[in-house]
Amino acid sequence: MILEQADTVGSTWRRHYDRLHLHTDKGHSALPFVPLPKGSPRYVSRDELVNYLDAYARGFALDIRLEQRVTSIERGEAGWRVRTPVDAFETTHVVVATGNARIPVVPTWPGVDDFRGRVEHCSDYRNGREYAGQRVLVVGFGNSGGEIAIDLHEHGAHPALSVRSAVNVIPKEVLGLPILTIGIAQRRLPSAVADAMNAPVLRMTVGDITKVGLRKLPYGPATQIEKDKHIPLIDIGTMKLIRSGDVTVHGGVERFTTDGVVFDDGATAQFDAVILATGYRPRVDEFVPDPATYDAAGTPLTTGVESAAPGLYYCGFHVSPTGMLRRSASRPGASPTPSQRSGAAGSRARQYWPSGSSARFASLTATRRSFSECGECGE
Ligand SMILES: Cc1cc2nc3c(=O)[nH]c(=O)nc-3n(C[C@H](O)[C@H](O)[C@H](O)COP(=O)(O)OP(=O)(O)OC[C@H]3O[C@@H](n4cnc5c(N)ncnc54)[C@H](O)[C@@H]3O)c2cc1C
Repeated sequence: MILEQADTVGSTWRRHYDRLHLHTDKGHSALPFVPLPKGSPRYVSRDELVNYLDAYARGFALDIRLEQRVTSIERGEAGWRVRTPVDAFETTHVVVATGNARIPVVPTWPGVDDFRGRVEHCSDYRNGREYAGQRVLVVGFGNSGGEIAIDLHEHGAHPALSVRSAVNVIPKEVLGLPILTIGIAQRRLPSAVADAMNAPVLRMTVGDITKVGLRKLPYGPATQIEKDKHIPLIDIGTMKLIRSGDVTVHGGVERFTTDGVVFDDGATAQFDAVILATGYRPRVDEFVPDPATYDAAGTPLTTGVESAAPGLYYCGFHVSPTGMLRRSASRPGASPTPSQRSGAAGSRARQYWPSGSSARFASLTATRRSFSECGECGE
């Protein structure tokens, strides 16, 4: 049984901006048993993914209880008691799959309340239509910020980026190969070795990012993912716009004025609007009162395996060079990642797939066959 707070399947994807396409190729972004549709592009759009998730839920007749927001997961008689505002469920095993992008991070700065323009988090951004002709500052140079800057430019706005920290930029593809394919091929290498191997290719494909006012992290993308749990900017066209001057780059925001922003290098600029592409947090601490299983910021310590609390699993919290969707969809018996191996669950780590699930594969594969004939999903 799946408890879902929204009134639809795939609600996280539905709320993202219109332009969004997966940055990971469809061959490495599907859920178990059913590939993304054959006719869809290599990088599927938000709407195509939402349709796929809808069809997936219908095809497998998943028992999804909509509008059931979980408010607490506590130890109960059967093992765990899961409460929503309208129901309580007793169960032996709980898988928390509430996503890394659950709660928008909305920083605040001195003067922000006096700013006369609009300030919105990227979770509320749909498209750049209403920003045409405006000077818009996008705060944050992650993958949302990078794509929203492109979208604003395409809608006739004048975007600028506020980039507070040093970054890594990687191409979406190398010689026609999706970047994820390279990450997967190198997954057993120590990240420093992978970074050393990739450095010449990155220099050739992305070029010197310091020439456009960005600061380069002292370590490479693979180390960044492992150490900072942060995906580098996958360049889908932002760097070209920066180089052409269509997107300008500034430092971190120091404070707001009534009509703009003062940056941390003392520079000032006027803006009509500011979009905060400042990320999200999972914050499972808001409904799981067991602090042994997550860090101080409410991010699970383990994912894809049993947590330190028996019967409680987290799924989908991997920040991985081999793809987050791909990692969440990995099958029973898939080898644990290095972070899983060293995670709090240690050697007794168990995959979140329940025991006996392998035996159910045969019937699911049969379901897949008829499902793929429905035309909405499948090969
Ligand atoms: C802008 C953006 C682009 C991304 N692009 C990619 C990409 O190209 N490739 C990739 O692999 N990954 C990508 N990711 C990461 C991506 O979010 C995950 O791979 C994927 O969505 C994770 O699925 P999930 O089911 O774990 O979480 P989600 O898709 O976030 O689903 C979590 C669900 O839990 C529900 N929920 C939350 N709290 C509660 C509660 N208390 N009670 C009940 N239900 C609750 C939510 O409503 C939601 O439906 C991207 C993320 C973002 C933010």
